[in-house]
Amino acid sequence: MTFEMAQEGQAKHHSPAEQLTGAELGWGKPLQTWLCEQCDWRYITLPQETEKLRCPHCFTGALSRYDGALNELVYFHAPELVIPHSLPPERLEESIQQFARGIPFAPLDLNPAQIRKRLRPVYLPVWLVDSRVKANWKAEAGFYYQVVSHQDEYEQTCGEWVSRKMQETRTRWEVRLGNLEREYHNVPSPALEEHQKILQQVGEFDFSLIADYQPENLSGVFVRLPDRVPEDAWSEAVPIFEQNAAEECRQASGADQFRQFNWQPQFQDRNWSLLLLPVYTSYYLDDQQIPQPVIINGENGRLSGKRAASQQRAQKTSIMLFALAVVLFLVSMSLGAAGVLFPPAFVLAVVVIVLAFLLSAGAVVPVVRVWWFNRSQQLK
Ligand SMILES: [Zn+2]
Repeated sequence: MTFEMAQEGQAKHHSPAEQLTGAELGWGKPLQTWLCEQCDWRYITLPQETEKLRCPHCFTGALSRYDGALNELVYFHAPELVIPHSLPPERLEESIQQFARGIPFAPLDLNPAQIRKRLRPVYLPVWLVDSRVKANWKAEAGFYYQVVSHQDEYEQTCGEWVSRKMQETRTRWEVRLGNLEREYHNVPSPALEEHQKILQQVGEFDFSLIADYQPENLSGVFVRLPDRVPEDAWSEAVPIFEQNAAEECRQASGADQFRQFNWQPQFQDRNWSLLLLPVYTSYYLDDQQIPQPVIINGENGRLSGKRAASQQRAQKTSIMLFALAVVLFLVSMSLGAAGVLFPPAFVLAVVVIVLAFLLSAGAVVPVVRVWWFNRSQQLK
């Protein structure tokens, strides 16, 4: 069964033109859908008064309302499980400071107060699929057994042969086959094309806080809608069904190991729902006042985003260093003049002029460093 069939199930009691609300579609609340034309992310929120929501992903586009029927959206499925946002404020502060420390001459706007002020809680979707499975299976089941042997060795210290008892674990392989009829629930599969990329950015999630979805989870958050068709997600879910089935067959056979598992599964009654993963998004402004988005794991605070160093800050530092070099140069000139009356002042004048030259050469370092850093970030 494919997604269209799941939709058929939902549409049984309603004509296609009928507008279904979020509450009727299993979300438990009336909902509003939003689209960002800049980055094409789609969200749902509780109904909002304002028309001017900024996209919590790119922070450059304004969101536009989608006024069509919710049940006409292709990937509109209700969530079943959720990992709530649980990031302690002090952990967030630490993450922001750590991120800023990794940037030479970080923009002044990149500070905990600004990031916190612009923080948006967002849920990212993961597909969950249930299915009944009927299958014939065949595998090689491995059973451990112990073998005891004796090994003779010549012992140098006592000058005689000694016999050592050796115990070794070996595996006996037997072919097993059988039938399987089971229901599997909530097998996960990515619902976003960028799923892996986002996980690389924010790290894994701790599933110990997973809970049943409640409509209250929606208050004040954006929920990203899937952009990956369930058919694609299905092909990634099948190997997980197979792993689960192989493990159950191994246990049922009482085997220690299983290999060459082969099955001919028939899947029935597929049902799709969503798991929601917690992240926060925010941004800082670079020198050109362009928002640079950051994304933060809503549990452990791992933060990721584009690192933009501030050329303006670097230039100010360079100018200050250069001005200091000029002052030192003038001081050395005065000391040189004083040297006519008091010769030891010449020595000091030479020392100061060397310092002035070193400082004027060093004054370019901040600008070059920032240019190099920003270039290396662009090449990433
Ligand atoms: Zn956007």
